[in-house]
Amino acid sequence: MGWPVGHSLSPALHGAAFAALGLDYAYVPLPVAPDRVADAVRGLRALGFRGANVTIPHKAAVIPYLDWLERDAELAEAVNTIVVEDDGTLRGYNTDIVGFLNALDEVTGASGGLGATFGGTAPQPAAPQPVAPQPAAPQLAAPSARSPQAAPAGPALILGAGGAARAAALALARRGIPLTIVNRTAARAERLRDLISSGVPGSPVTVVPWGGLDKALVQAHALIVNATSLGMAGAVQVPRGLADNLIAGQIVVDFVYSGGLTGLLAQAQAQGATIVDGLSVLVWQAAAAFELWTGMAAPLEVMCSAVGRQGALAWPTRNTSASPGERRKGH
Ligand code: NAP
Repeated sequence: MGWPVGHSLSPALHGAAFAALGLDYAYVPLPVAPDRVADAVRGLRALGFRGANVTIPHKAAVIPYLDWLERDAELAEAVNTIVVEDDGTLRGYNTDIVGFLNALDEVTGASGGLGATFGGTAPQPAAPQPVAPQPAAPQLAAPSARSPQAAPAGPALILGAGGAARAAALALARRGIPLTIVNRTAARAERLRDLISSGVPGSPVTVVPWGGLDKALVQAHALIVNATSLGMAGAVQVPRGLADNLIAGQIVVDFVYSGGLTGLLAQAQAQGATIVDGLSVLVWQAAAAFELWTGMAAPLEVMCSAVGRQGALAWPTRNTSASPGERRKGH
């Protein structure tokens, strides 16, 4: 559910995955006006939904209407996946966090090898299986001893302070990576810094004004993350101060996905940087959601081809754990 949702690739992605595994599920776009969020979330239960994804602008707005919140979703103040339990309990998760980490780990060589899936087994076409009775909260695992390159050693520059930025910032702070946050609205950047400081105490987080996005700032960071909506089809592109100053050796992640490379990623690639596109994040976050709804390992290759992502995904080191998150009383 989002507003609007017409641009979303998720119906095609999940539809293909359900079909590949012979599951009798359907994934439908639900345009929900901002003043109808409460009705929509409560209606999931009554209408027999197994769950939902939540996108712009409702990731924070749905939270008051859920019965239970995964700790990372609580810290990020953003829910992108809802699970409706058989007894009607509404659980909120943030799979953007694990989606971002897995996409990043693919290019940083942190792969734990094939088979290290969320569900722990390689996806196989199979008859529907019972849904796991316990919530499998996709939380961040501690950095793996097998993956010393689990993320770049250098600091990270994050553009944005919305839901995607909060997911990226939380994921990176957990790995001990110093963060610089740049956002158009300074107050939201400061709010994100405070969220990280309380969620991951001791994390170095600096806020720089939007106008401070210059060569020195960009080149002082090993990892650049665009978590704004800049660069979406037909929208304003990322500032030249960012795109023109990228250098070889940097890793550039763009949460935005488009038909091909975004302008930022095209320029990053031309300048010799390593890129992570929004489709990778999309597929990984979808895989985590799929597993929460179905209890089955997601068919990644099917999902990739459904959204036109080139190349097969390699399973990175497990970035989830099956331990339940913190519980919270509903409203
Ligand atoms: P959001 O919560 O609405 O945040 C939007 C961010 O973009 C804010 O930081 C906002 O700054 C900034 N922004 C918007 N217009 C801007 C402009 N003209 N100039 C400068 N900054 C601007 O959205 P979100 O959920 O974080 O999503 C951000 C992007 O990531 C979207 O394109 C979304 O589709 C994408 N996304 C992709 C995935 C994936 O799986 N690939 C997952 C999540 C999100 P202010 O605070 O100043 O408004």
